[in-house]
Amino acid sequence: HSGFADLPGHTPMMVQYFALKKDHPDTLLFYRMGDFYELFYDDAEKAARLLDITLTRRGQSAGQPVVMAGVPFHAMENYLARLIRHGESVAICEQVGEVGAAKGPVERKVVRVVTPGTLTDAELLGEKSDSVLLSVHQGPRNQCGLAWLSVTQDDIHLAECSADELDAWLSRVAPNEVIYSADVTPAFEHLLRQARASAGLPMSQRPEWQFDPALGQRKLLEQLQVASLSTWHAEGLPLAHAASAALLNYAEHTQGRSLPHLRALRVQRSGELIELPVTTRRNLELVKTLRGEDSPTVYSLLDTCMTGMGSRLLKTWLLEPPRDRSIAQARLDAIAALQGANGAGPWHALRQQLKGTSDVERISARIALRQVRPRELVALLHSLQKAEQLTLGGSWPAGTLAQIATELVPPPDTAVLLHRAILPEPAALVRDGGVIAEGFDAELDELRHIQTHADSFLVDLEVRERERTGIANLRVQYNKVHGFYIEITQGQLDKVPADYRRRQTLKNAERFITPELKAFEDKALSAQERALAREKWLYEQVLDALQAHVPTLSRVARALATLDVLCTLAERALTLNWTAPVYAKEPCIEITRGRHPVVEARLAETSGGSFIANDTQLGLKQRLQVITGPNMGGKSTYMRQVALIVLLASMGSHVPAQACRIGPIDAIHTRIGAADDLANAQSTFMLEMTEAAQILHSATPHSLVLMDEIGRGTSTFDGLALAAGIATHLHDKTQAFTLFATHYFELTEFPVKHHQAVNVHVSATEAGSDIVFLHEIQPGPASRSYGIQVARLAGMPSAVLSHARHTLQTLEERATEAQAQVDLFAAPPAIEKIAPSALESRFAEIDPDTLSPREALDLIYSLKKLE
Ligand code: ADP
Repeated sequence: HSGFADLPGHTPMMVQYFALKKDHPDTLLFYRMGDFYELFYDDAEKAARLLDITLTRRGQSAGQPVVMAGVPFHAMENYLARLIRHGESVAICEQVGEVGAAKGPVERKVVRVVTPGTLTDAELLGEKSDSVLLSVHQGPRNQCGLAWLSVTQDDIHLAECSADELDAWLSRVAPNEVIYSADVTPAFEHLLRQARASAGLPMSQRPEWQFDPALGQRKLLEQLQVASLSTWHAEGLPLAHAASAALLNYAEHTQGRSLPHLRALRVQRSGELIELPVTTRRNLELVKTLRGEDSPTVYSLLDTCMTGMGSRLLKTWLLEPPRDRSIAQARLDAIAALQGANGAGPWHALRQQLKGTSDVERISARIALRQVRPRELVALLHSLQKAEQLTLGGSWPAGTLAQIATELVPPPDTAVLLHRAILPEPAALVRDGGVIAEGFDAELDELRHIQTHADSFLVDLEVRERERTGIANLRVQYNKVHGFYIEITQGQLDKVPADYRRRQTLKNAERFITPELKAFEDKALSAQERALAREKWLYEQVLDALQAHVPTLSRVARALATLDVLCTLAERALTLNWTAPVYAKEPCIEITRGRHPVVEARLAETSGGSFIANDTQLGLKQRLQVITGPNMGGKSTYMRQVALIVLLASMGSHVPAQACRIGPIDAIHTRIGAADDLANAQSTFMLEMTEAAQILHSATPHSLVLMDEIGRGTSTFDGLALAAGIATHLHDKTQAFTLFATHYFELTEFPVKHHQAVNVHVSATEAGSDIVFLHEIQPGPASRSYGIQVARLAGMPSAVLSHARHTLQTLEERATEAQAQVDLFAAPPAIEKIAPSALESRFAEIDPDTLSPREALDLIYSLKKLE
């Protein structure tokens, strides 16, 4: 651009364009020209490539042809959606001045910037997810501040973490766009770009002055209209404040206005939530299957919500289970009240009532942003009326439900205002008119009256003129170009009265205008224009009046969403035959007849087969299960089912089991080989070890760890040795609850010396030479691995099978001889402690924080001498 922009002799329009483009260098500029948005030069080329639209060269500016590409204004949303999906941002520039009002091009302004992280349009967003903008600030001592928001929600989230935790935070928040300061260190920028969740994520740098703690605090106070951030315990977070400054600045920049609906803060501290690393989300197929599909997943099974708001909240509950059991217990209590005795409670009726409720959350945000469309207001009206009726269903029990009941009360008079102001079936856009209801505004009614009475006036005039002139086929008509006229055919022209003025001559007729008709025309046409202008103005007035109610509307939205999710969990529990969990104080995971909800649903759907329920007993005395048994026996299913039951219990849902007691849990870690590991750039084994190492570093005695077939990626002995080492570490050091599935039969010896470990196996029996899986978890080690039987089931040629049987026999004989000599779990010989060198001792004494630069230099010299 700049190359072209600097050329002399641009047309006035291109000069205007470049001036606007200068403020949006990295953003595609949609420049409104009549019925099109045009893109120029580099923007045009990029858009043509991404959207597959035609690139043209037209006219000349600065002696060069102007390269351009355009999209029709009415189809803009569609093109926008596609560009956003490509991670692009678009600045929308409208004509704001009157055409021909001044010399030169009509005045234009960028009215908003659409970016992947700040979408507000339902069409661009999809019903079940919000777009999240996140700002990262790099602070001193490896710390960073985070602030994020959804433009369509009313809260700003703050957090501070160490740079090491950034990856985990980014994966959990899953932003759609990230901003960071232009002055971060290259290492930090590298870290950001490397973070797993941010690969391929749109990221942009913002000026460093915007990342200022004092500015951030001031902006937050202003935004929330409070005197102190203490209500939210958000005072002592300078790094997060710095991130917020840039966050709010950018959000306002994109919307082209302030965001008055952001009225709450949520400070998230590591330690509030049960940690669910990305690997766990993926392996447990919480919201996506391993293949990346939306169903069947735990979320797709759970989400029978009646509203998009409910679906979104449910996803948050599932992915962000609180450690605080009182939150989960409150949800369980509410579910119990909704279910009532034998499921006869109000849940069903409430769900019917919630059906068809519009997206109040988004609509209120769009009111605040003044982007709301007339039909959304009508939908809001219906939903508010619904919300009010919901609370009429009798008195609700104390706790969550009573709280919801008080929050469902719509802001006073909003419904009345909407009802009075907006037509029941308004036009899609205000600029077309037909939005404001009759009787709301006398002036508008008057202007409309003139228009509706035009028809009868014209009929009347026609009759009168026919009588006056004696021309029977005289007609009064209207067209867009010429306005109103009286048409007289050739043969009758001699009868035309003197006060007729000729307007137009046709082949067989002449068209005339009379002073009376002219006067009417002026009045009618201006009435139409004035009515449109008046409607636009009135609509703005309605939006003004609604602004004050936005916080209350957001509160109603949250109450509706919460009620929807609770009713949904009540429904799911009854339909799927789930039970309420019990929270225990002491560490334990006790499950009676547990099931894997997704596998169970699939079995019921496809084969009608029934799922075999299994028990789990983990506690202080039994922390680790070594799980053996044939492939396809059900080991993975069993392990995942335990993790899912723990997760569902922690979010406050009922669980697929007959009974369940769960102690405190701080994380669910999983290491499970995914089928698509091969496609990964990292070698399978490397990935396996990286993930296992991360688990060993972060798991605690309150974590649940799933290890599926660790060591499979390398040679037998390596793998076995590593698996034994990892199991020992988990048992002795980490002391996490561990489910350890393995195909190394040798590991069944593990519990002999490790008293908090037990063997369990999945059972199978042989019917002749066929194998039958019973999918039952039983105590003790598997008797054998059945690999050859499974191969036979898979259709392996019988010659291969008999060869394998023979080889197996020889191997087993040899192994028994060898085993006597190795103790897999023996502690390694202690490494002799070597005395530290002089250099090392001196080094240990240094306290860098107390050194002056001068002392530091002296120190280096003295160290140099010791070397
Ligand atoms: P493994 O991990 O031992 O190889 P999986 O857990 O993958 O075995 O189970 C293999 C298949 O067996 C599953 O896809 C499922 O269809 C079936 N299965 C597993 N557990 C059960 C169960 N408890 N009841 C019924 N079918 C089961």
